[in-house]
Amino acid sequence: HRTLDTALAEAWIRTAAAAVEDAERHLTALDTAIGDGDHGSNLRRGFTAVLAALDAPPEGGFESPGALLRTVGSTLTAKVGGASGPLYGQAFRAAGAELPPDADPAACADALAAGLAAVRALGGAEPGDKTLVDALAPAVDALRAAAETGATLARATAAAADAAERGARDTTPLQARRGRASYLGPRSTGHQDPGATSAALLLRALADAAA
Ligand code: ADP
Ligand code: MG
Ligand code: MG
Repeated sequence: HRTLDTALAEAWIRTAAAAVEDAERHLTALDTAIGDGDHGSNLRRGFTAVLAALDAPPEGGFESPGALLRTVGSTLTAKVGGASGPLYGQAFRAAGAELPPDADPAACADALAAGLAAVRALGGAEPGDKTLVDALAPAVDALRAAAETGATLARATAAAADAAERGARDTTPLQARRGRASYLGPRSTGHQDPGATSAALLLRALADAAA
């Protein structure tokens, strides 16, 4: 895949749905430590509905990768609930609205940046608050840096996934300042953030689909 076209967008989301299913228990265990133990089941429910939406596309198919991602976003908003549902929903809708029909790595970076901006606008989280932002922000930077060096989409998305996974791991010592985990105060330290973990998983799914 040289660009993020509609076929790759669909492959990404199907790969992501399978990865969410595999990681459901892990995500729930992370959320049991510092939240209410539903992050895995929330996302599983959402991506099950997303697969149903992909299996019943509009007449003639999705018209663009952006249209497909906007459907993913509205489905997640409707089905996931909790804090992460509206955040992921808005992120996919904003990214989908920004994405051109055949996005090169630079255009993908712009779309991911739009998704990050939507998360920050809705949830108010800064980097270091132990949230989705701690995986998404380094991924945007890595994707942009890779695009500037002329990297292929496969290499650029792999760099973004690597950065997101590092960002998620680096949430472990942080104290949560947003969401349910913030209610624990200093006791939220020493655990990896579930939402940053799932954000990294979604970006790894993109890299796997683009490889
Ligand atoms: P809930 O906390 O409502 O049960 P989930 O368990 O599905 O929702 O999602 C929890 C995750 O949502 C957290 O691990 C965190 O990454 C993310 N999150 C919570 N609040 C915010 C926020 N204001 N901004 C960004 N991410 C947030
Ligand atoms: Mg939860
Ligand atoms: Mg909950």
